[in-house]
Amino acid sequence: MRVAILSAEAVPYSKTGGLGDVAGALPKALCRVGVDAVLITPLYLQTSGEYLSHLLIDDLWLNWGGHDFRAKVFYSEANGSPTFLIDAPEFFHRSSIYGFREDYERFAFFNHAALVLLTRIGAPPDIVHLNDWHCGFAAVEIASRRNRGDDYWRRTKTVFSIHNLAYQGAFGTEELWKLGFGSEFERNAFQFDGAASALKAGLAVSDMLSTVSRRYSYETQTAENGYGLDWLLRQRSEKFIGITNGVDYDVWNPATDPELPAHFNASNMEGKNQCKRELLHTFFLPENLERPIFASITRLTPQKGFELVEQVAGEILASGAYFIALGSGAGEHEDFLQRLRNYAPAQVGIYKGYNESLAHKIEAGADMFLMPSRFEPCGLNQMYSLRYGTIPIVRAVGGLDDTVENFDSVNGTGNGFKFREFQADRFLEKIYEAMFAYAEPETWRQIQWNAMNVDNSWENAARKYVALYQMTKQ
Ligand code: ADP
Repeated sequence: MRVAILSAEAVPYSKTGGLGDVAGALPKALCRVGVDAVLITPLYLQTSGEYLSHLLIDDLWLNWGGHDFRAKVFYSEANGSPTFLIDAPEFFHRSSIYGFREDYERFAFFNHAALVLLTRIGAPPDIVHLNDWHCGFAAVEIASRRNRGDDYWRRTKTVFSIHNLAYQGAFGTEELWKLGFGSEFERNAFQFDGAASALKAGLAVSDMLSTVSRRYSYETQTAENGYGLDWLLRQRSEKFIGITNGVDYDVWNPATDPELPAHFNASNMEGKNQCKRELLHTFFLPENLERPIFASITRLTPQKGFELVEQVAGEILASGAYFIALGSGAGEHEDFLQRLRNYAPAQVGIYKGYNESLAHKIEAGADMFLMPSRFEPCGLNQMYSLRYGTIPIVRAVGGLDDTVENFDSVNGTGNGFKFREFQADRFLEKIYEAMFAYAEPETWRQIQWNAMNVDNSWENAARKYVALYQMTKQ
């Protein structure tokens, strides 16, 4: 089966969050289970030059929006699968990957370029797998070409995956013609709430839909979490499934992680102490290995519920524990972190910004990981935490609910702590529970053992995607 995966970001070429991790790892996992998968993604200013040694196409000519464009295509296998990087500096050489008024135009271009590239490099794929709003344009273009009897796209089917329903790629309907979408079918596909939405278009016209956890697939069909699109997802519920993301254990494995000062595994945890020691040194914190380190690595957006962390931070510090946070985003949360650090410089370590290497070191050196999200399509950090023996304390939503099982001290089952209502005192109860468990080394070892032995490998998830592709093809 031939599958082309399109994504606005993919590790190691680009990453702002979980989408990058997933889009980097899934094609590799698919190749390992025998699927002929290729990845297509933009080449950003931020993409490391080490992946650009192979210029595959120098002249990918596109007529788009009434103008001629010439793009280049680089080829790499750095993520473990054949990858085509679309190089169009006028769209992708920017100070950041997202955040521009004309993002819809940038990704519409990417989609069109990716489809032109496919027609140029070989036989039609069986499946084009599209990810998040950035790829809604391709869903419409393929459906539209199929409707018009286009020979190349005649048998290709589309799968559209929601990684986050909150980002919808909205823009004025008057822009559609500029993006090459003029027919009634196309305009109807995009039309949503008085504007055009690339996400809605992808959900409306793709052959199959998926999202990144089972629980989120239900939540998105409710008015509370559906961001105005729940009706469409309910309408298409027979074509909509949840497949929980995997973890790329080639990258996130405490036994081999090159970012760590020492290695460890479920049977030999000695290295974790060394990681904890070094982590404290990194943040100039006094070395007291008895005290737990609570950690947070996150985009500081409303989704992540960071205000709950702010509300419990005082209690965490009052208990004598450490608190280490790596995050970037909303100014008020960054300011809070700074104030916290000033208030308790011997207990608090902060890094405001994005730092991949530090993320690995924190996962390894911390004891508990805080993730009280308002909503969480899947969440990867809690799964990384599990593998690194860093016990997650999470809110029971989306993928967090699917992947974290509350610890049961009577029969010794469970791999973390989870609470339901979005309330600081509920969160705090779980934090205290975790502290009590941490104070009993045998209990803590049991939870770590349970956590580190969970299998969230991509292989499982990849097989489910294969089944989904097969269903879509029929
Ligand atoms: P989301 O995609 O909503 O941000 P996920 O938990 O699915 O949440 O994935 C987040 C990914 O981004 C993880 O790999 C995490 O380590 C990484 N990440 C988030 N913020 C930072 C940061 N400030 N520095 C480094 N990595 C970060």
